[in-house]
Amino acid sequence: MSSASAQTATPTCIAQVALDLPIPRLFDYHAPELTPADIGCRVLVPFGRKQLVGVVMQLSHSSAHALDKLKPIAAVYRDTPPLPAELLRLLRFCSQYYHHPLGATVLAALPTALRRVQPVQPKSVTTWALSEAGQQLHEDAFPARALAQRALCAVLRDGQPHSAATLAVVGSSYRSVLRRWLAQGWVTQSSQPARLNPITTAADSAPTLTPAQQAAVTQIGGQFNEFYACLLHGVTGSGKTEVYLHLVAQALQQGGQALLLVPEINLTPQLTGVFQARFPDIEIATLHSGMAEAERLTHWLAAAQGRARIVLGTRLAVFTPLPDLALIIVDEEHDSSFHQQDGLRYAARDVAVMRAQQRKIPVLLGSATPALETWHNASSGRYALISLPQRAIATAQLPTIRLLDTRSNRPEDGLSSQLLSAIEQRLALGQQSLVFINRRGYAPTLMCTECGWGAACTRCSARLVLHLRDQQLRCHHCGHVERIVHACPDCGNLDLKPGGFGTQRLEDTLARRFPAARILRVDRDSTRNKDSWPAMQKAIRANQADILVGTQLLAKGHDFPNLTLVGVINADSALYSPDFRASERLFAQLMQVGGRAGRASVAGEVLIQTQFPDHHLYQLLQRHDYAAFAASLLSERAASGFPPFIHQAVLRAEAPQIDTALAFLQRAKAAAPDADQVTLFDPTPAAMSRKAGLERGLLLLQSPSRQALQRLLSAWMPSLTALKSAAVRWHLDVDPLEI
Ligand code: ADP
Ligand code: ZN
Ligand code: ZN
Repeated sequence: MSSASAQTATPTCIAQVALDLPIPRLFDYHAPELTPADIGCRVLVPFGRKQLVGVVMQLSHSSAHALDKLKPIAAVYRDTPPLPAELLRLLRFCSQYYHHPLGATVLAALPTALRRVQPVQPKSVTTWALSEAGQQLHEDAFPARALAQRALCAVLRDGQPHSAATLAVVGSSYRSVLRRWLAQGWVTQSSQPARLNPITTAADSAPTLTPAQQAAVTQIGGQFNEFYACLLHGVTGSGKTEVYLHLVAQALQQGGQALLLVPEINLTPQLTGVFQARFPDIEIATLHSGMAEAERLTHWLAAAQGRARIVLGTRLAVFTPLPDLALIIVDEEHDSSFHQQDGLRYAARDVAVMRAQQRKIPVLLGSATPALETWHNASSGRYALISLPQRAIATAQLPTIRLLDTRSNRPEDGLSSQLLSAIEQRLALGQQSLVFINRRGYAPTLMCTECGWGAACTRCSARLVLHLRDQQLRCHHCGHVERIVHACPDCGNLDLKPGGFGTQRLEDTLARRFPAARILRVDRDSTRNKDSWPAMQKAIRANQADILVGTQLLAKGHDFPNLTLVGVINADSALYSPDFRASERLFAQLMQVGGRAGRASVAGEVLIQTQFPDHHLYQLLQRHDYAAFAASLLSERAASGFPPFIHQAVLRAEAPQIDTALAFLQRAKAAAPDADQVTLFDPTPAAMSRKAGLERGLLLLQSPSRQALQRLLSAWMPSLTALKSAAVRWHLDVDPLEI
């Protein structure tokens, strides 16, 4: 009400604006023209000598700064709807929880196009529809030889507006016919927003649900309009997608929007096809980082305006404004790609749960191998647990898992004789095999047989990976590339040997062994081109490949009906890892990749080459017993005080010298306020201490209480920000995936 400003008679309106700056506060500007309806709007503001795009977070009548020093905002962009209050609240929460500046958090949630200093022009397309007079036309009214007119009439008869893209099927002459019909008043022309995802497959109707699916749909469907977090634990092939489709249908029926998060860009086209076929009349927005800027903006806007009723996207889609959001689904919720590893370091699955809680709607987390944290939440009753214990297709059984002991039966060139003969059998039967190894390139290293030298990256503490096809040694951590050396730089020996196996080497071995087979390698190298992986998937489904060799890209969520054999190479290496999550990840990965086998009527088989066939991980895997494995991991973690029984945060620092990084962390530790229940460990070098030319150190904090940890972090941040060290870059990682 009262205004401190003497210059104006009316109350001064001050906008608190979020700007993309590494400064943890909002910035005040005079904004007399703004009303509360403008909260969430993008504005252009002067900042120093520049102009920046920001978001209005709040309006106020006072400022902590002298009013006559405040500048006015330069422009208000009303080209897009303001971010809804619900989303702003979520972003505030994320900023606080992940201890990332609010402005940077808010701006990171916007598509790039909306961060630019210019208003946006959403794309629209011209469409044509039959007018009332045109509705009276029938194709038979045209002479038999007037093919274009008859065809055009047939297409337009549905009364819907059609764009050039769909009318072009008539032939190139459709334009001249349209011109004549427009003149005659038979069609009307209008400009509409473009359809987001054209329908490429025939409409599809829902199959009868299995009893387990029906029970899941009934239970979750009864929880709309309240917060309800639920883990859908369904074995591979149990038909989780069908449960999602039914629940989305319910959300739509109630006038709601549905958000489905998936881990991989690669999974979105396939899933979009499935959803578009089931909901042909519904606009589906897809959002992922691989989209062109303009395209992403179009989809984001359609969601924000409520035109798109379904949103499918990767982690960043969790921040999409959705005015009618009624349901969130996180598919493959265990997947590590839900974690953003730079800038705002967040876990999209956790943010999804928070968003559902704030909005009071159900959130469904689906997986055959839930993250241990999620499993713990479900078994302790914080989340509901619904299981789909069997495959949806009655004839499809879970695959048989066999452990091939590589101590008694040594593999030659990476592949054991049993695996080779199993592949041979599949070839004879016309079925597909998959050889899974989690390493791309030819071999993980190039070594000297004399002195033990191994090619190493000069910028990282890591080996260089041999890429024989390109005659290169490559660092998979920093991207550094060298030509292959042919003599040992240490002793001059000419006998350098590849050490270990990668996808390319297995591909070569298989090609030598099965010269007639069609072999397809699927890894990040072979799918670098944006369209190559979708094309490969099509080829695999069309049975144009006999043997697939690939990394985890192949393990995720795909349905290849003719694939009946999966061979796993070099899984043991994860058993040696110092990372306490390595065995959880290995189990999940093997269960997922094994789940690709035998999804149709032919039984599948999984062969795992291992030196430790008696290891309890493999034993439980063989029994498909996720629950028992999770229980054993949970008791180990409880005993040794690891998450989910303890909450962690890591302060990471990098500098040209390790001593600089560690000294910074030491000062940071000294600056930490006293806090009970929180343990601050001593700074140590990271497991991979050198990366891309920088030395990396870390300081681990943990606490049995999430609140206590958060309190300490909040109290600590100001002093951390005040610690000046020019050579050091640092950031905080809350709930880190790796330490
Ligand atoms: P998941 O995602 O749980 O691994 P999918 O959703 O891919 O499993 O389903 C596995 C297969 O079962 C798919 O081919 C799907 O079409 C089929 N399916 C799912 N539900 C049913 C059902 N109720 N009746 C018949 N087939 C089904
Ligand atoms: Zn040597
Ligand atoms: Zn490197």
